Amino acid sequence: MRHAWDGSTIRYREPKHSGDQTEVDEVPFSRIWGLFRPYGGRLVFIISLALGAAIIGLLPPLVIQRIIDVSIPARDTGALIMMAGLLVALPVLSGVISVWQSHLNTQVTQSIMANLREGLFSNLQRQSISFFTASRSGEVIQRVTDDVAAIQNVVTSVIVSSLTQAVIVVTTVVILFALDWQLALIAVFILPLSMIPVRKVSKIRKRLRGETQRVRANMSSQLGEVFGISGATLTRIFGREASQAEQFKAQNKQVMNLEIRLNLVGRWFFMFVTTLGPLGTAIIYLYGGYAVMQGEMSIGAIVAFAAYLSRLYQPFGTLLNLQIEVNTAKAVFQRIFEYMDMKPAVTNPEDALPLPQVMGRITFDNVSFGYDLNDEAVLKHVSFDVQPGEMIALVGPSGAGKSTLIQLISRLYDVTGGAVCIDGLDVRDVQIKELRAQIAYVTQESFMFHATVRDNLRFAKKGATQGELENACRQAHIHDLIASLPQGYDTIVGERGHRLSGGERQRLAIARAILNDPRILILDEATSHLDSESEAYVQQALSELMKGRTTIVIAHRLSTILTADQILVVEEGCIVERGHHAELLKLDGLYALLYETQFQGKSEYSESTRARAAQPKIRAST
Ligand code: ATP
Repeated sequence: MRHAWDGSTIRYREPKHSGDQTEVDEVPFSRIWGLFRPYGGRLVFIISLALGAAIIGLLPPLVIQRIIDVSIPARDTGALIMMAGLLVALPVLSGVISVWQSHLNTQVTQSIMANLREGLFSNLQRQSISFFTASRSGEVIQRVTDDVAAIQNVVTSVIVSSLTQAVIVVTTVVILFALDWQLALIAVFILPLSMIPVRKVSKIRKRLRGETQRVRANMSSQLGEVFGISGATLTRIFGREASQAEQFKAQNKQVMNLEIRLNLVGRWFFMFVTTLGPLGTAIIYLYGGYAVMQGEMSIGAIVAFAAYLSRLYQPFGTLLNLQIEVNTAKAVFQRIFEYMDMKPAVTNPEDALPLPQVMGRITFDNVSFGYDLNDEAVLKHVSFDVQPGEMIALVGPSGAGKSTLIQLISRLYDVTGGAVCIDGLDVRDVQIKELRAQIAYVTQESFMFHATVRDNLRFAKKGATQGELENACRQAHIHDLIASLPQGYDTIVGERGHRLSGGERQRLAIARAILNDPRILILDEATSHLDSESEAYVQQALSELMKGRTTIVIAHRLSTILTADQILVVEEGCIVERGHHAELLKLDGLYALLYETQFQGKSEYSESTRARAAQPKIRAST
């Protein structure tokens, strides 16, 4: 099979986590370096500036040595003034170059951060619905925002700083050896000592960083759920504010403790590194002072030597610190790259066929589908054919697989067996974008963005004129209501459209579908939120809209589908009956029972109904 289902392609997973240990796979440094590659030219320039500043910074101690050993003994006032001038000019020049360099560096860093966020966003946009049903939105947001922000320091300093500091260390070592090789040996000898704890500290910090980001992601997810309108409503209805506050408090405390540990770990190490400076200086003065007493060394040389020591130990400490920072950040890079590398479960075929305006014939050819390969299939060997312009209705008990079935048409999920075709073309062989452009959904949950009515409508048709918007809204019987709002079409509908009533939101969604002008219309419980009066209006509008379009309707209220060209009765993933309303009633099977149940006012599909339905044994062949 060309498009065999592979559940493993949904690569969403939480970082592997056991107890307070977060293990992350190793991120090679080359992968991190790859982020800098597009800025290679600019980086070379930035590094040249940094090196220039570093080299200029090497000169003042030599000037001091010259003052002490040459200008003062020679009583050369002119040279003294010039040397003093240089002592001011050199740091100023080095400072100006540093500012320029850090300005350019910030630009590169922020571009890399923006690229990361953009890359994550576009890869998330490519993901199939299966990814979003398996993830928590807070976790997704966290990775794009907080995780990217968490690596900013490393991205800023990793290339420029490590190279600059390395150059400072190397040039200083060369100068020290040139000044006095024996003293230089003593100065350099203590450096390797400071490298001993680096590995251990890096490992602990990396683990803590991964754990912190994971807990932060949980916290973001909780915030998203608790303060989303649906979660906030549910919380208040069940009065769970206090328990949610407790849960938040616990997570908040966990973040606090982790951040404290993260900041404190390695403090002893840093203290150790900072004591190297005074230790080295003391040894140099001890040994050098003795050499001066013996007349083997000039005072200027020893002062210059001591001045260089700070240019050795401090950048060396920075380099070690940088190594720890990079290793720590690898835990976050891992989380970012995990999302970057995710492959969508539903993809465009390489040789995708174009799909111009379709006639609207829909064929299900022996379709099977399961959300999870290990679970029982949700749809089993479903076959049916809908001619262009026909209206078919799907009915059946809750959980039978009706919503699942319609999601396969626009490839929100891919079939696990068989094929779904439009105008005879397998939907997996055509451009997804063109396929979806032919289909409009009006679903049970009519989602609206936190934007104006106009913007929400234009989501279906970019650039639609005011006339087109009003026309669509009139057809959906919502124009008068919108026009009566103080800001009319500029009214903000609130997140998820919660400033509108359920029925109003549904009518707005219908207007959006009208604007979309699709060949195929899918109505999932499209009129369930409406009162009888507005339902009548909307049914009228929908019949207009459905003219000439292939329509698939899922409706629990059977009164709305009496005129369907074909009714498919779905039960446990199979089509068990099919035909017109009258034919199905005559069968006296499940449809007849659902119909009867509904008109007796029962809303549930009961066990007794199921038992009775099984009696006539009229399971239609699929
Ligand atoms: P209803 O009339 O109540 O909306 P339905 O006939 O539309 O029900 P579906 O929503 O298609 O039924 O669900 C069919 C089965 O698939 C159910 O058992 C449901 O639990 C399962 N299911 C639905 N969505 C998912 C999902 N994203 N992941 C796993 N299982 C799912």
